[in-house]
Amino acid sequence: MLKTFYIKTYGCAMNIADSNTIHNLLKTHSLREVSSWKDADLIILLTCSIRQQAEDKVAGWGIKVKEEIFKDKIVVLTGCMAQRYNRDSDLVVREYEKTLQKRFPWITHLLNIQNIEQLPNILGIENNDLVQNESINYDRNNKYQGLFSISHGCSNFCSYCIVPYTRGKLRNIPKKEILKDVTNFINNEGKLITLLGQNVNSWEDNGENIVDLLKEIEQIEGEFWINFISSHPKDFSDELIDLITTHDKFLKHCHIAAQSGSNRILKLMNRKYSRDKFIDICKKIKTSCPNFRITTDVIVGFPSETEADFNDSISLIKECKVEMVYIGKFSPRGGSVAYDMNDDVEFNIKKNREEVIRKLVNKVREKEHRELIGKSLPVLVITKNKGITYYNHEVLLEKEYEEGSIQNIKINGCSKSGLVGI
Ligand code: SF4
Repeated sequence: MLKTFYIKTYGCAMNIADSNTIHNLLKTHSLREVSSWKDADLIILLTCSIRQQAEDKVAGWGIKVKEEIFKDKIVVLTGCMAQRYNRDSDLVVREYEKTLQKRFPWITHLLNIQNIEQLPNILGIENNDLVQNESINYDRNNKYQGLFSISHGCSNFCSYCIVPYTRGKLRNIPKKEILKDVTNFINNEGKLITLLGQNVNSWEDNGENIVDLLKEIEQIEGEFWINFISSHPKDFSDELIDLITTHDKFLKHCHIAAQSGSNRILKLMNRKYSRDKFIDICKKIKTSCPNFRITTDVIVGFPSETEADFNDSISLIKECKVEMVYIGKFSPRGGSVAYDMNDDVEFNIKKNREEVIRKLVNKVREKEHRELIGKSLPVLVITKNKGITYYNHEVLLEKEYEEGSIQNIKINGCSKSGLVGI
């Protein structure tokens, strides 16, 4: 009989939200989470598949923890990567089926993330002791932070991406359900609401859009902050800009995925917006709220990316005063359109381009951080000595504050990744 479980999560905020869902689902079936895989009867590997690197990490973990130990354990692989290997998936990529046997012989079950609620059934977990759970969206690590998936999947079919195949087409969670979960969270001392979706700002329900949803959340009584990740430029409206830059409950930070600054590459990526559209969004945001932080994603070395295309990405980052970039070196993902393109940018060039962007944004960020020293910022205290600013920086607190409170913190130092304050 399964009594304990351990979840190892790789990848983005969506995967973290999924791991919270699995945690809560198993908890309602009276299983207990343990902090070491060694003590677990059931191990869940929740994986990303956007980049080859994530798959290598899973394989590396299996080797590190010595495969024979898995003999007595149930090991479930789920998330994007599992979907790529799953025989029942719409996207059957035969070469991966063979690879799976060879590379991950210790995995006992593959689970389509879209069928996650079937996990207890699949594993034969009885639900006699079913514990009622009001929501399956809370962040299990901190009661003040709530991650709420408001949509699943994606219908955009960017040429490099396998999400529409692995996670299916866009499915929006009805507004009523989201509001119920969020209200519940706020009533239980929740302070930071993070709405999640592959393209969170593309959410719709019965003719209502993300602005309508955010306005309703904002109206809920209580002291709390709202943010949402990650946004697609094509659906970033002026109305949305106006709301988040002028209303107090919204964090003054947004992650908007640019992917490239070159119109030619954006077209090849099937991104459905131009460089000018992205710059226009950022300029409008900064005009309305000059201290608003913008972060983004950029892929370097997309097939046929020239030095001129790359320089367009650099100039876009500079022009938009982007403070942080998640950089992906292009790697062909089986099943995507770009898999059949000629991956003609040499690895070393991809690496150099990655380094150029990294250095550029590090400089921008360091400058921004240094300028904050001596200033006071509103900070939500997440743990006694860690907080999140109103601009979504992490802050190390040199003094202990009450968890869940919002404090005015004087910034007195900074590191590469965050701020230090008292
Ligand atoms: S918008 Fe594009 S990159 Fe993002 S999940 Fe959808 S297909 Fe993938």
